[in-house]
Amino acid sequence: MVPETMGHYRPAGGKMSESLFGDESPDCPQCGLEEPRPVIYGRASEEMVTAAKLGHIVLGGEEVPEAHRLWQCQGLECEYRF
Ligand SMILES: [Zn+2]
Repeated sequence: MVPETMGHYRPAGGKMSESLFGDESPDCPQCGLEEPRPVIYGRASEEMVTAAKLGHIVLGGEEVPEAHRLWQCQGLECEYRF
């Protein structure tokens, strides 16, 4: 189960994540959950930190690893990155 605070978000204001990252989010290959959170690398802007706190995105850190992941499953017992 996913606690309410970490569940699907439906912001009243708009579709920030869609417009920023495109609308092609794959299903989690591990558990099949839809709408994984995008993992964003690089220096976090204030907006990105806020989005991360809200669970819209995952901050991957300032350094971009060689094999960086683009998505993280939002399932709390999964959190698979792919
Ligand atoms: Zn998953």
